[in-house]
Amino acid sequence: MRVDAVTLFPEMIDRPLSESIVGRARTEGFLELGFVNPRDFTEDRHRTVDDKPYGGGTGMVMMAEPVYRALKKVRKKNSFVILLTPKGRRFDQAAALELAEKKHLVFICGHYEGIDERVTPLADMELSIGDYVLTGGEPAAVVVIDAVARLIPGVLKKDDATVNETFTGGLLEAPHYTRPGVWRGKAVPPALLSGNHKLIAEWRSGTARELTAKERPDLAGPVPAEKKPGGRSKGFKK
Ligand code: SAM
Repeated sequence: MRVDAVTLFPEMIDRPLSESIVGRARTEGFLELGFVNPRDFTEDRHRTVDDKPYGGGTGMVMMAEPVYRALKKVRKKNSFVILLTPKGRRFDQAAALELAEKKHLVFICGHYEGIDERVTPLADMELSIGDYVLTGGEPAAVVVIDAVARLIPGVLKKDDATVNETFTGGLLEAPHYTRPGVWRGKAVPPALLSGNHKLIAEWRSGTARELTAKERPDLAGPVPAEKKPGGRSKGFKK
């Protein structure tokens, strides 16, 4: 997959995505990441990319033309352009799965008070990573690119690692444990030590359902009657 970011601060994306699994995905060629800076598409001596807002108010607004030109530089026929904004669709695992299907993603990162509104129609999607306001779109791009990159086949060494995890199938994942079997007096649940795959699978799915009902009842799918522990299934959606 190819990803480009239209950003005034490429290092804010490049650095965090140079480490660990995504960094390796880049060096192994699963993910190609490029940057284009609107400042390189200005014509004045000061390379100005922002100006005061019409109508007054605090802060500066990124001008449309440098962003437009930068986008034009990287946009191809098969590109899917995402404008990062707190006003956009809320990013979640379903959106990550949708974006992982695309051949080429282009992220437009705003800064300051945001970008001139006339740029918005150039995007295929407006995307927010949550109901809070960041200083710029760059940290949002890092979050989205990370979540999408790990869904690219081959990036995780075991492709099934993304099948049973949190949010896939509408449930939080059951907890994990590793050695030692007893740590500071706390034992690993016996089912996980049983070596019985059926029992382990049942423990994981039951625990995932209970955990989801407790922590995120808005997520959970229906629970079969025999699995409902007294009173705890209250929050499940029908
Ligand atoms: N004035 C804008 C408003 O109130 O909606 C906020 C602008 S914010 C300070 C600057 C830039 O950060 C935005 O243009 C956007 O690219 C990015 N940004 C801020 N919060 C975000 C979020 N929750 N999700 C995605 N991008 C965000």
